[in-house]
Amino acid sequence: MRTLIKGGTVITAADTFAADLLLEGGRIAQMGADLPAAGARVVDAGGMLLLPGGIDVHTHLELPFFGTVASDDFYTGQRAAVFGGTTSHIDFAIQHKGESLHQAVENWQHKAQDKAVIDYGLHVAITDLNDTVMAEIPSLVSAGVTTLKLFQAYKGVYQVDDATLFRAMLKAAEAGMLVMVHCENGDVIDFMIRDNVAHGRLATEYHARSHPAWAEAEASLRAIALAGIAGAPLYIVHMTCAESVDQLRYGRARGLPVMGETCPQYLFFTTDNLRQPDGAKYVCSPPVRTAADNDYLWQALSAGHLQVVATDHCPFLFDGTQAIKYEGENYQKPGKELGAGDFSKIPNGMHGIEDRLLLLCGPTA
Ligand SMILES: [Zn+2]
Repeated sequence: MRTLIKGGTVITAADTFAADLLLEGGRIAQMGADLPAAGARVVDAGGMLLLPGGIDVHTHLELPFFGTVASDDFYTGQRAAVFGGTTSHIDFAIQHKGESLHQAVENWQHKAQDKAVIDYGLHVAITDLNDTVMAEIPSLVSAGVTTLKLFQAYKGVYQVDDATLFRAMLKAAEAGMLVMVHCENGDVIDFMIRDNVAHGRLATEYHARSHPAWAEAEASLRAIALAGIAGAPLYIVHMTCAESVDQLRYGRARGLPVMGETCPQYLFFTTDNLRQPDGAKYVCSPPVRTAADNDYLWQALSAGHLQVVATDHCPFLFDGTQAIKYEGENYQKPGKELGAGDFSKIPNGMHGIEDRLLLLCGPTA
């Protein structure tokens, strides 16, 4: 089967130019001007961009979280990804307390089994680092996992202390692996959430008020400094604000191999969205910030101070009490309504796997 994609604008890593693409057997056979259409199915790509499939390096399909589970599984999430031009992604296999890291990988491979329709990889998120688990880290590389994720936030759930983070960094550096960190000060955030709840400040916007920008900045610099001491490369996930990206720039200016990621929600949304009647839709951690932060992040991306845009795709239904029809079947999962009347119970997460490339390349960008 031959397919001719006509009249599009081809984007490669180096160039942008008008060209037709001839596909044979699922591969690009020819690229050039006015290619002959004989025997081929012709697709008109006039006015469109033709670019390699995107890779979303930060997703959570079917993640158990906040007493429910993310609403996309490996089939629905990957299907959405393809519609938006993303053809590969890296999800997080999360170690449950007491589990080995290889068990976590197997658990996530099981979720993807018979459902995956595109390529995927896995990071391993460490939540319970004892000596046995520590010894296991280097062997992940032969299982295809080269990145470890640790959390400075979600106290009592995922959070690890500095010694644990530091030991993991030393081990990762030794094994040639990359450490990714969720940088927020979980102790301060936990106190602020409890304090707001105790005083009856339960509205959705208190989610953001309980996760201040300085809590992200402090944890970012702490992770950068620990990586500097350990001699380990570091990748900070979902950076949201000027305060934290400034810490990244500080580390990079001193020659540390540290990188930062942001996500579309931090480029487009603000705390104003949390005050809308459907504000729970915009609850994620770290939270959405200010319009000034949106601008700062766009500039940081153009200037190369931030290196990656991923999505942290982790969707929850807005009203999980209502069944929706999906491919002829009723589909129902508890969602954002779990936090009706109490911001601290709203499942943290937003969708984005389908929208990332369109938002970055589209006419609004
Ligand atoms: Zn995430």
